[in-house]
Amino acid sequence: MAQGVSDKRPRSKEACCADFNKNIQEKRHKRRSKPQPWILLKFAVFLTLGIIGFATYVYIGRFCVPMLTRKPEAMGDRVFGIAFLVIFSILLIVMLWAYVKVCLTSPGFAKDHVQPTPRPEMSSWHTIHDIGGQPYQNDPPSGSPTQPSLVPPPPVHHDVSQSSSGHTAPQSEDTYPPSRTKTISEQNPPGPGRRPPSTPVLAPAYRYCGREGLVKPPRTHHCSACRKCVLKYDHHCPWIGQCVGARNHKFFLQFVFWASLFCAWTFSTLLGFVALPRNHENLDTLKIVIIILTGLFGLFTLTMLGTHMRLILLNMTTVEQMRVQDVKERESEMLSEMYPMCAFAKKRQARARWDEEWGRPMIEGNIWWLGSGQKNWESVMGESVWSWFIPVGKAENDGLDYPVNPRFDDQGRWRRRREWPVHLR
Ligand SMILES: [Zn+2]
Ligand SMILES: [Zn+2]
Repeated sequence: MAQGVSDKRPRSKEACCADFNKNIQEKRHKRRSKPQPWILLKFAVFLTLGIIGFATYVYIGRFCVPMLTRKPEAMGDRVFGIAFLVIFSILLIVMLWAYVKVCLTSPGFAKDHVQPTPRPEMSSWHTIHDIGGQPYQNDPPSGSPTQPSLVPPPPVHHDVSQSSSGHTAPQSEDTYPPSRTKTISEQNPPGPGRRPPSTPVLAPAYRYCGREGLVKPPRTHHCSACRKCVLKYDHHCPWIGQCVGARNHKFFLQFVFWASLFCAWTFSTLLGFVALPRNHENLDTLKIVIIILTGLFGLFTLTMLGTHMRLILLNMTTVEQMRVQDVKERESEMLSEMYPMCAFAKKRQARARWDEEWGRPMIEGNIWWLGSGQKNWESVMGESVWSWFIPVGKAENDGLDYPVNPRFDDQGRWRRRREWPVHLR
């Protein structure tokens, strides 16, 4: 009854706005937690299969078959027809095989391996900053405390014994006495220098996914298209209708490799014959369309191939690489403020000093670096050369656990060279 009365009362503008905002927020939350419709997720897969089917029809039906049957519109001899048909068919079969493999192999999802838990407590001395740029707020104890730094390290703005919320950190095995850090702060006055991210990427509290209520395994990220936490998340690829992650990264690279070869072969043979003056009378629009499509897709897949080969050699995912790239870009900005535009030698020397102090960002500063490019490559692609090209078997790593670069602390933060294990310094 009371409800009915209050409903009839004229409502204030603020109350209406609040209701409106609440409605919008609820709708947004529902939309965010619901996975994308299946047909939308897989749309590009059907599109890709359609384009492959179309290219096969044009290449075989309108390019190879006229040569085999010696039709007047044939662009070359029967020998060419047979050779092109065989090579095209082999490339097509292997590419489709790799495509089916990468589309049907799940990248691996955290919820299939991790039980939901409440959010873990964040140690109060941790401060969470997302991607980089912040100085260490807690300098771990160094093995050689009196060793002078070559470049002044970043300024320490806060008392290390305090968290960002101002609470005093409990002294435990993983906290460092304030006096120690104060000494470092006094020893290294504020100034320019390398500022690696202080994000404790290995801390359970940092790895918690609030949307699924679980602690993600290392390198796992939540995909906003799949609405799931994906193991060793690389990126969401609409062309395969799912994410590229721990368990299908290898097949993704194999597919991209075979697709580049397929496009390069189709593009170059069609273009070569269409460009011959004797074939100008028989120009076929469909062949021109396929030349344009394979040219564009070929460029795209070749770029992807180069990018992902480099990332695998570095043992980094696209997300991880973007974080390091951020650090490097900020350093470039800092250097351009410090030196005139053309002082390349000075900028190089400054970077060399920072590398001397910290190590190189993509190598020593990469938490998943295994010691060499070969080890990184084999950890994803396998040791056998056959397994690099043929899409069989399963991924080398199930995506739940990865060895950590010993140059990082147990919370996953990059340390200065003087704090590394002695044999690595
Ligand atoms: Zn998640
Ligand atoms: Zn996804």
